[in-house]
Amino acid sequence: MQKTSIWSLLPSELEEALIELGEKRFRAKQLLNWIFQQNIIDFTQMSNISKSSIQTLNMHFTTELPLVDKISQSDDGTSKYLLKLKDDNYIEMVLIPADEKLTLCISSQVGCMRGCRFCSTSKLGLLRNLTVDEITGQVYLARQLTGSFRITNIVFMGMGEPLDNLENVIKAIRIIQSDKCFAFSPRRITVSTCGIIPGIKQLSETGLKVKLAVSLNSAIDEKRSEIMPINVKYPLSVLKPALQKFTKTSPFRITFEYVLIPGFNMDIKDQKALRKFTGDISSKINLIPWNPIPGLEWKKSSEKEVNNFMKMMYKLSAVPITLRNSRGQDINAACGMLAGKKQKSPPLPPIDGADYL
Ligand code: SAH
Repeated sequence: MQKTSIWSLLPSELEEALIELGEKRFRAKQLLNWIFQQNIIDFTQMSNISKSSIQTLNMHFTTELPLVDKISQSDDGTSKYLLKLKDDNYIEMVLIPADEKLTLCISSQVGCMRGCRFCSTSKLGLLRNLTVDEITGQVYLARQLTGSFRITNIVFMGMGEPLDNLENVIKAIRIIQSDKCFAFSPRRITVSTCGIIPGIKQLSETGLKVKLAVSLNSAIDEKRSEIMPINVKYPLSVLKPALQKFTKTSPFRITFEYVLIPGFNMDIKDQKALRKFTGDISSKINLIPWNPIPGLEWKKSSEKEVNNFMKMMYKLSAVPITLRNSRGQDINAACGMLAGKKQKSPPLPPIDGADYL
């Protein structure tokens, strides 16, 4: 019999499932208390649950988590975890400490099909979507790994395009936000997308409160299409109104991620276009120096190039701008470098944007 993963259920679903198995209504509450308050996931250690109920739990449910295959520790405190899934596929998860914050970067897919040229995950192609429990399981595992250090923020910026696995991502976020489970407030969770318009609409329609980040990387259509095939299908003229609409029902500003690539998207024309695109959207801009990946001719930006870009953008921009300190570069954990090495299934090739039309 296939066991149900505890990590895939909302508290109400767990309660229902237990009642169906003849358990008392309070059993779900007891169970969740053990798991999330006492940090005990072995049913046999749950001392106030009767032997027969423990047997029922063991027969029908599992609390299995992804396995940590390898830990890479960066000099700057960032740790990358290579996680092995049940089917021998691998994903990556990153923990990034900064000041008072401890940010957990999680994956939503094994690989990705969006083919962004500057990103190393895209080189894998898409192997498969993560299930709900594989997403929430990363969060629980990270909680165990960090012990008393509390994770303050969760970002869906690991492997995968979260809006290509929207149903599972939405349910996982509901579980992560649930008071009885992980109890994360909406403002501490960010979903990052390359700009899948139907997904953005759907996310907004669910009424789920969550921060949205959009990988913009160029506000000039020809350039964006050159590095992000998704822009061929959903160009800037379509992206903008969709985002404006999203902000109408969201309490949060949108974060535009802009990867700085010298010689490609850093001159004054790029800056003016960026100002124009973001100026009338409730947003902020997060600049990310591009981390070189093998096989590409571009160079990493120098400190001077980044500073000059920042200075000019401060002058031009109508919205706040921040610079993302690139963390974990020495362990390939920085943005776009999360390409798991040992995958089981053969990948589907990355999709060329034009094929979608
Ligand atoms: N698919 C989602 C989430 C994963 S990417 C998305 O596109 O948003 C997370 C962030 O990393 C994106 O903003 C992307 O632009 C950035 N990124 C990808 N490759 C990078 C690289 N080589 N250097 C710096 N940032 C990169």
